[in-house]
Amino acid sequence: LCQHQCRYSLHEGLLMTTTVSAFPTGTILGYPRIGRRRELKKAVEAFWAGRIDAAELEATAATLRNTTRERLAGLGLGRTDSSIPESFSFYDQVLDAAVTVGAIPARFADLVDADGHLDLAGYFTLARGAGENLPLEMTKWFDSNYHYLVPEIGPDTTFSLASDRIVREFAEAVAAGFLTRPVIVGPVTFLLLAKPSSDAPADFHPLDRLDDLLPVYATLIERLAAAGAQWVQLDEPGLVSESIDIPRDTALAALARSYETLGALENRPSLFVAAPYGSLDDALPVLAGTPVEAIGLDLVRGTVPADVPGLGDTVLVAGVIDGHNIWRGDLAAAFEKVGQLGALTDRIAVSSSTSLLHLPHDVTDESKLGADLPGWLAFADQKIGQVATLARGLAEGQAAIQAELDAATASLAARRVSPGVRDGAVRARLDSLTPADFSRGDYETRLAAQEAVLDLPPLPTTTIGSFPQTGEIRRARARLVSGELAPADYQELMRAEIGRVVQLQEDLGLDVLVHGEPERNDMVQYFAENLDGFTVTENGWVQSYGSRCTRPSILWGDVSRPAPITVEWSSYTQSLTEKPVKGMLTGPVTILAWSFVRDDQPLGETARQVALALRDEIGDLEAAGIQVVQVDEPALRELLPLKKKDHADYLDWSVGSFRLATAGVADATQIHTHLCYSEFGVVIDAIRNLDADVTSIEAARSKMEVVADLQASGFDHGIGPGVYDIHSPRVPGVAEVTELLERALESIPARQVWVNPDCGLKTRGYAETVDSLRNIVDATRAVRATL
Ligand code: GLN
Ligand code: ZN
Repeated sequence: LCQHQCRYSLHEGLLMTTTVSAFPTGTILGYPRIGRRRELKKAVEAFWAGRIDAAELEATAATLRNTTRERLAGLGLGRTDSSIPESFSFYDQVLDAAVTVGAIPARFADLVDADGHLDLAGYFTLARGAGENLPLEMTKWFDSNYHYLVPEIGPDTTFSLASDRIVREFAEAVAAGFLTRPVIVGPVTFLLLAKPSSDAPADFHPLDRLDDLLPVYATLIERLAAAGAQWVQLDEPGLVSESIDIPRDTALAALARSYETLGALENRPSLFVAAPYGSLDDALPVLAGTPVEAIGLDLVRGTVPADVPGLGDTVLVAGVIDGHNIWRGDLAAAFEKVGQLGALTDRIAVSSSTSLLHLPHDVTDESKLGADLPGWLAFADQKIGQVATLARGLAEGQAAIQAELDAATASLAARRVSPGVRDGAVRARLDSLTPADFSRGDYETRLAAQEAVLDLPPLPTTTIGSFPQTGEIRRARARLVSGELAPADYQELMRAEIGRVVQLQEDLGLDVLVHGEPERNDMVQYFAENLDGFTVTENGWVQSYGSRCTRPSILWGDVSRPAPITVEWSSYTQSLTEKPVKGMLTGPVTILAWSFVRDDQPLGETARQVALALRDEIGDLEAAGIQVVQVDEPALRELLPLKKKDHADYLDWSVGSFRLATAGVADATQIHTHLCYSEFGVVIDAIRNLDADVTSIEAARSKMEVVADLQASGFDHGIGPGVYDIHSPRVPGVAEVTELLERALESIPARQVWVNPDCGLKTRGYAETVDSLRNIVDATRAVRATL
């Protein structure tokens, strides 16, 4: 027996006759947890609403986990070879890791019992907050649309194995006849993603606590070994990202120390360290130099490494099946990549590049995709089929899977020439663009022209677009979709709603009005439904965070606008008021970011197609008498690539597509944009380059700090720093808004300043919306009087 196998000769005091299993030839890094019919979402929300108790929620979750295991086995993953990942979570895997290691922020100490345990209700409280206790912050998970909860770690955080849920879920699988592979966020990534707790000194970084955290991971791993786990997966995507603010050497040293330490444990399962979302680069040889038995490489985002010094017997797990996108893709090319690893080692396995968390469950759940599209697509279940195919090819040789490879190649070829995928008119228009199409005239000239037509007071007030989406609006839309309500009646109901929203804004005394977006189910899907080149799904739900799911549209072909989309709504709204009405569109980058996009051309090209469709829409709005048009780009920062070398190209096409969409208007037409955040960092120049006349941003929580940053960067156009944090039902008082405005005016001239909430009001109720907007208008009037 080799040393690796000897570790298992003594197992809970019994001489084991079995040897450790090899890494499975095919696996996935994780599977959607929300349930094929969003069972988990529904159960969790029922628990929050008090309709079911914790025991019932646990039972639903256990059933779901078991259904998932059976499903994965049915799709070709082995029942007892550690190929099925245990990747369930009630809310979020990073929150799970925090709860596992007992990293509960001090403000939630009351939730923990004498033994250090947190019950299910307490767990959700960390995610959702309670009264004055704000929840853990939420932020984007690498370059996906998933959002995780940010652990808070300080010098005094005490680490202990506070939850054995991971061990119990593994045991539950064993009891059901499965030998699965527990998955947990690795210690380095956990600390890299954490933020310092509020009481931490300025020079503290959570990674400083690594040595205190590792013993807890060690205990967990030993517990899993005792329960019979043969492989454990530790996710370390933190090592592929360059946007994490820690010196690289420090991160690499932490990686080495962690896996030296965990690798040295006597009783442990084999360790599989997965690094999805990018290439490990210099972290790969570091990891290879530790005792871990398998390393997962994302070969979709990253490339096959030329050489891995110190690799030895370590298994390389080739993440060649794209866990990010919904395309069936080029299976033969994927298999070839697997083969390329053969130059480095003969210990190779196949996997998805990331967890399949980002994909809907199953293409066969869709009935309205038409004849061709289903054959081009692969959702989570189809991706597992692809992994199983490649694994078989690896085990039995390419000939065994040649038919599958050929079928995928043929499908790809058919897709390439299918009508709709390439539209000659769209392409000709893109080819004829010149630099002038991307630029408006001089800003001062524009401003003068706009002031002349708009005639606004100083510090103009406006909102970001949506007004509360009431139950009545949602019900009307549901009845429209089910056919119970005729389109004309739906339109009447929405017009009535617009009428109320306009009247309300008039009564409140806002200066630039909106229509409130009642007719939109979602700011991206609404446009996808009205543009050629897109399709929407019936069941393609993907977890966004916690119980929230989105149903991204599929952008599969060249994009064009068959007919005006918003013009009728906006002109109707304008007909109701003397005040200027702001047209409301979603920008190209955000449309791409929140859809599944085609993989057969650069993103920039797709973005320019969307931009041209929007450019036409803006032109039609302008022709219909709309003087202000807002193009929302809340995802501009979100889509920023993880690697710095890719930033310049991204910023070039993303900013370019916004400019292409908006540069066709006359000087007198005012273009607004809205961005949903306040940390601009590397995108600050990009925001200036958008050249929007007015940019609204989130600023209330950060108390306007961002305004000074923007000003320092040379931003001299209009700016609307949010004065109302719409993420909470709290109503800001007049004094509070006044103070925020005064603070903004300390760093930026009054002529640049607009007054608005942080974001759209769609998730708010009417009561707090009306009170908040009234206070905003009152505060603005008071500050105006002092100018
Ligand atoms: N106009 C959109 C709204 O008000 C903007 C939302 C967003 O930026 N996320 O809802
Ligand atoms: Zn927003």
